[in-house]
Amino acid sequence: MVTYITYKVQTVNITNLSKEITILIQKNISNFTIDLNSVTNTDRSKMKSLEEKLLKRGIKPTSVRLLIFTTMSGLQKAFSLTDLETELETVNKSTIFRTLSLFHENLLIHSIDDGSGSIKYSICSDTCMCTVGELHVHFNCNRCKNTYCLESISIPAIQLPEKFLLDSVNFVMKGICKDCSRFVKTK
Ligand SMILES: [Zn+2]
Ligand SMILES: [Zn+2]
Ligand SMILES: [Zn+2]
Repeated sequence: MVTYITYKVQTVNITNLSKEITILIQKNISNFTIDLNSVTNTDRSKMKSLEEKLLKRGIKPTSVRLLIFTTMSGLQKAFSLTDLETELETVNKSTIFRTLSLFHENLLIHSIDDGSGSIKYSICSDTCMCTVGELHVHFNCNRCKNTYCLESISIPAIQLPEKFLLDSVNFVMKGICKDCSRFVKTK
């Protein structure tokens, strides 16, 4: 028996929306839809494009997934599981974990080991298949500790010695990011 609940939102306010969704999850109601008719045009087209991105990766855009993806899209830096839990404090932690794994498996997001001890993630470009040739450089800031995708800089092809087979590459640069550079005196 499937229960469909239409949840009307006035504006796409992530905090309110996540609270409502948590209540629905707690009541064991997992099949609900968000009625976007009451949402402003800009927010509606934003949600629609996020929904299409999920569909393109073969992910069924449930409300919770859409909410988590909206939150990810709003972050200007790579995020860890803990970062998402903090942003979505009302959403069940195992739901966040499962969604993150699903997104990763379906190549919606890629993982980054920036040496901080926790794996970070970032949203892939629409055409990214996460192959070695498509990988880009990441930048970890020593000051704010944030990690950024430098998508315009691809990892140079490296000639390996004979019989070495390449599986993955992790290229992380460390330094001071754009936002923090104003605090640092340059010569
Ligand atoms: Zn990718
Ligand atoms: Zn910084
Ligand atoms: Zn990246």
